[in-house]
Amino acid sequence: MSITENIQSIKEKLPQDITLVAVSKYNPATAIQEAYNAGHKIFGESKVQEVVTKYECLPKDIEWHFIGHLQSNKVKYIAPFIGLIHGVDSFKLLQQINKEAQKCHRVIDCLLQFHIAQEETKFGLSLAEVKDILNSTSFKELKHIRICGVMGMASYTDNEKQVRQEFSDLKNIFVNLRNEYFNTSDCFKEISMGMSNDYPLAITEGSNMIRVGSAIFGVRNYNE
Ligand SMILES: *Cc1c(COP(=O)(O)O)cnc(C)c1O
Repeated sequence: MSITENIQSIKEKLPQDITLVAVSKYNPATAIQEAYNAGHKIFGESKVQEVVTKYECLPKDIEWHFIGHLQSNKVKYIAPFIGLIHGVDSFKLLQQINKEAQKCHRVIDCLLQFHIAQEETKFGLSLAEVKDILNSTSFKELKHIRICGVMGMASYTDNEKQVRQEFSDLKNIFVNLRNEYFNTSDCFKEISMGMSNDYPLAITEGSNMIRVGSAIFGVRNYNE
């Protein structure tokens, strides 16, 4: 199947209110252009240099999402154009995003990344850490970031029950934060969870933003 066919068949089955982020990391600009020509405008990348290069050579109405682990010292390269940063996992990073957004006269949308998987390797915050951040006075001073929701990655396992539980945990975290901190916020509404192999399950558990790469672009070649 072609990229166009893949993207169309995923979208046909997707409920209207679910945002599809086409994860184009490690794929060439030509692949993104094909998806764009099929009518898709939201793409996710996980490397700073890669997203900058692609931003420069592709249509300007593409909405770029940063989905990888972002280092504070590299925020400045993406601050001028990034549409949403999914993986905010420290207060230091949030402060840096705020600082660079201010320089660009922008407000940058962010998702807080939670550690929901059992694996040690996945980045992310705990609910207690996030509450400490949200309660702090220094957080309230950040006027150039907007917290739009939560993001998480489930364990890489065939155990459906476990994956379902982890997604459900993230949904509960979202509801908890919304009720306690974002009751009056119009933008705190995103639950970014679900990838190629688990997005139908993620949607069942409450996701409204899925990040799908290989099911659209095929298996990635990390050597390119
Ligand atoms: C690579 C990546 C994806 C997409 O993974 P696929 O399995 O190819 O769909 C989604 N989210 C994050 C954070 C990623 O790094």
